[in-house]
Amino acid sequence: MSSRKAFIAGNWKMNQLQGEAADLVNAILPAVAGTDYCDVAVCPPFLSIPTVTNLARGTKLAVGAQNCHFEESGAFTGEVSPAMIRETGCTYVIVGHSERRHKFGESDEFINKKLLSLYKYQLKPILCVGETLEEREAGKLEQVVENQIRKGLMSVPGEKMMQTTIAYEPVWAIGTGKTASPEQAEEMHAFIRGLLKEFFGEEVAEAVRIQYGGSVKPANVKELMSQPDIDGALVGGASLKPEAFIPIIQFKD
Ligand code: PEP
Repeated sequence: MSSRKAFIAGNWKMNQLQGEAADLVNAILPAVAGTDYCDVAVCPPFLSIPTVTNLARGTKLAVGAQNCHFEESGAFTGEVSPAMIRETGCTYVIVGHSERRHKFGESDEFINKKLLSLYKYQLKPILCVGETLEEREAGKLEQVVENQIRKGLMSVPGEKMMQTTIAYEPVWAIGTGKTASPEQAEEMHAFIRGLLKEFFGEEVAEAVRIQYGGSVKPANVKELMSQPDIDGALVGGASLKPEAFIPIIQFKD
């Protein structure tokens, strides 16, 4: 039995206007209060973060951003720095989401710079990795994920790695309704933990939480969470509906 505390985060992507964001948080807060066995976070779009952090202050709900730039300030039109994110009261920042990699062309090197910039502001990265269907079918699954982990975590000191979460999100399972089977997911989570052991040693590897992401819903969360190396979930679509997100965070009931 691992001593890692479960961690479930909702990635709202580019959804929820201010009022909708407030309604969603107010709807989930009572359930979040009852989840002592699990850390819970939501990651709203940047503009809704102050609304959400104000509502979440003094509660068990943590807030994260979905992206950041790695510079502190300067001529980077349209970007948001880690210092700005910290100022709003966020705890986490997602980096390397597959939509950023595939729709915005982010490289592992660029993602690594973002990840490293977060530690200076006591922000905790959630590094997303995962293969496309073509890569899986071509038998390149482990090679792709190893490359993303190796490059994404370049120069991260062991003690900072302890504050970092990895989200394994097979691209073919994101927003498609197709979930990796618990066995497929566990196989990759164990592989990732093995890499962490090789790069950072046993103690760090055993402490790092690895979330699964890809069409997580109330019907599959229990089985996924029962796998030894699956420590939580990064939830997209289902995190926008209280009737789906609440049973997900209550996976123990
Ligand atoms: C995600 O965007 O990280 C995700 C896993 O989305 P979904 O749950 O909708 O597949």
